[in-house]
Amino acid sequence: MQPVHIIGAGLAGSEAAWQVARAGVPAILHEMRPNTATFAHKTGDCAEMVCSNSFRSDDDVTNAVGQLHWEMRAAGGLIMAMADRHRLPAGGALAVDREEFARAVTQALRADPLIEIRTEEVSELPQDGNWIVATGPLTSDLLATSIRNLTGTDALAFFDAIAPIVHADTIDMSVAWEQSRYDKGATEAERRAYINCPMDKPQYEAFIDALLAAEKTQFREGETAGYFDGCLPIEVMAERGRETLRHGPMKPVGLTNAHRPQDKPYAVVQLRRDNALGTLYNIVGFQTKMKYGAQSQVFRMIPGLEQASFARLGGIHRNSFLNSPTLLDDRMRLRHRPNLRFAGQVTGVEGYVESAAMGLLAGRMAAAQARGRDLGPPPVTTATGALVNHITGGAEARTFQPMNVNFGLFPPLDQMRGGRKGRKDRYPAYTQRAKDGFKAWLDAQ
Ligand SMILES: Cc1cc2nc3c(=O)[nH]c(=O)nc-3n(C[C@H](O)[C@H](O)[C@H](O)COP(=O)(O)OP(=O)(O)OC[C@H]3O[C@@H](n4cnc5c(N)ncnc54)[C@H](O)[C@@H]3O)c2cc1C
Repeated sequence: MQPVHIIGAGLAGSEAAWQVARAGVPAILHEMRPNTATFAHKTGDCAEMVCSNSFRSDDDVTNAVGQLHWEMRAAGGLIMAMADRHRLPAGGALAVDREEFARAVTQALRADPLIEIRTEEVSELPQDGNWIVATGPLTSDLLATSIRNLTGTDALAFFDAIAPIVHADTIDMSVAWEQSRYDKGATEAERRAYINCPMDKPQYEAFIDALLAAEKTQFREGETAGYFDGCLPIEVMAERGRETLRHGPMKPVGLTNAHRPQDKPYAVVQLRRDNALGTLYNIVGFQTKMKYGAQSQVFRMIPGLEQASFARLGGIHRNSFLNSPTLLDDRMRLRHRPNLRFAGQVTGVEGYVESAAMGLLAGRMAAAQARGRDLGPPPVTTATGALVNHITGGAEARTFQPMNVNFGLFPPLDQMRGGRKGRKDRYPAYTQRAKDGFKAWLDAQ
């Protein structure tokens, strides 16, 4: 039987190889470390966790990451099995001994007779065969060039520039209003495409003070190579002058406060729809390197966002990722070269767990293909399905940035209460629906 080739033995590639072998299909895993290094990895082990040692919340009832854990366990995932084996006490979080964990993943892969690990850098995208590219946020330069040659230069980014994303139903619409600047747009939906949050002068000044005072994270050594000035963090814009933001992303022109038309706002924060469901909005131009705790505090100073719940906070990192909504089909294949499947962080998901989940899915799909079958994604009501649906079509392609799993990606449940207050009932209902859907998807294979 034709093997499945996997490039990159990180969180996604390791899980993909495991899933391929579990389906009885041979897997060849190509990993460049330790011969070729990255600035973040320290070992030659598979599935090395480069920063925190946490897989985040393990609560599969009221947390979307916990639900993703549940689905990966249900699918016999190697990453979850080894994480469980090397778990450390961490309250409700799943933290692991990172060295023991990576060693155990490597041993399990090496011990599997269907898996061959080759220590080599793949520098060109192959023309034929059944391949999974899982080279992660630090894809090697040679391969990145090959990807760009095939997909176009704008289709593979080298840095993310993530603006915070807000659950739409937690925005106070008695303060904010929907309007596009100068009411531009051919349809009513276009003319109301943005949600606007107004600030008066004292509010703006206090906001600038808070931005300047907030704690920031720094780029790591080696991380900034190739960084360009086009996606400045908002706090850096504020450092360049107190009025810079008011003339940039917070300019108040072309907008009329729908609640108080007589008051001209001194500055306006705009939010733009982030997914087709309309459940998520990003704060336009607000990419930031403020620490997470500081971000929640500072952004809740924005009128209308006092009670905001964030689906993800902002950041800027070295991160190779594809514009997946335009490039990948729902089987995670490159539309115009379907022998190439992508998985992990390079597809525009963010985080160890999400990357491993996409590896799990790509591995199963590639193994099905090797056996002459077609495997579709799990339903969009599951955590895995919601995530893959987001990156392969649900997200806005024009402004696509990496995404964590969160309940904003799940289709809303009819007749459930929205907003922060409804979460107590809504989240367990989402995860129960996800479990049912995921079990049915597994049973059908
Ligand atoms: C500095 C930094 C800090 C991070 N901190 C966190 C964190 O705290 N928590 C979190 O959840 N996520 C964090 N991430 C994101 C994290 O990297 C991903 O979540 C996760 O590792 C992605 O899994 P992956 O398998 O897609 O990529 P990786 O785990 O990076 O695996 C990709 C593998 O491909 C290999 N490779 C690359 N190019 C080639 C090639 N041409 N040929 C062969 N092999 C190749 C690499 O050596 C690597 O082993 C961080 C990322 C970076 C860069």
